[in-house]
Amino acid sequence: MTTALYTHDLFVEHLTPPGHPERPERLRAITKALSSEEFNALDRREAPLADTSTFLYAHPADHIAMLEAASPEDGIKRIDAETSMSPKTWECVTRAVGAANAAVDAVFNGDADNCFVAARPPGHHAEKTTAMGFCLVNNVAVAARYAQNAHGAERVAIIDWDVHHGNGTQDIFWDDESVLYASTHQMPLFPGTGAKTEEGVGNIFNAPLTANSGGDYFRQAMKERIFPAIDEFNPDMILISAGFDAHYRDPLAQINLVEDDFDWATGRIMELSQRYCDGRLVSLLEGGYDLIGLSQSTAAHVKRLMNG
Ligand SMILES: [Zn+2]
Repeated sequence: MTTALYTHDLFVEHLTPPGHPERPERLRAITKALSSEEFNALDRREAPLADTSTFLYAHPADHIAMLEAASPEDGIKRIDAETSMSPKTWECVTRAVGAANAAVDAVFNGDADNCFVAARPPGHHAEKTTAMGFCLVNNVAVAARYAQNAHGAERVAIIDWDVHHGNGTQDIFWDDESVLYASTHQMPLFPGTGAKTEEGVGNIFNAPLTANSGGDYFRQAMKERIFPAIDEFNPDMILISAGFDAHYRDPLAQINLVEDDFDWATGRIMELSQRYCDGRLVSLLEGGYDLIGLSQSTAAHVKRLMNG
């Protein structure tokens, strides 16, 4: 089993305002956790720059041009109340998408069994024409359509266990039955979307959880709502929007998962990927704002990816 890790030293240079939860220390904590001996077998790869024309798989050209033009020469440029850019942000975005696309290449070309992409900024709140929720370009959405365009995947499934609903991913695939989007998330919570009744063209499967629920409810939602949808869909590839802010230590939400819950979900999704798509599975970091909860959860997730 070869698990590839795509990351880059540059990802700590996307700077956010003081006190912002989506901060460079997140990636430093993950890098440290994944540098211990038990991760020696990880195939470590540098996140390449994306072909930026792939951004257009998820966003219109004028929106991308507007974001790129907003990139500041110094200081921090706010895009909205909580989303901002620093001078290196656009290169981070380009490498985050490049890593996601390269990971898709790796699992289709057979030079990795599965991949984890540790990048910043995250992507799942970025809608077609709105950057928001710390997200600028929707990495996972670009990667899903890249799998279709570059590798002929007909059906791509995205499972999003970040504690926030991936409104951006849902927006991008709302009327696209070739991509299934399935999400567990706390509700009510930012961004406010994610009700069960939001079904797109039958390709959206939301499983909202109430505050103070925990692993039992999370696993039940996966088993009763999300895994049967994957069974029915028969994907050619599975992507995970892997946020770790449903961890009990996280300051932004109250879902109370532990490392073992992420380990369990990873293992079950690996089984699905083996059943339907030769194990083709790419996981992308989204949120997770407590450094201990984030790094320990990521370690459990990656260890399961490596060991099956
Ligand atoms: Zn989140």
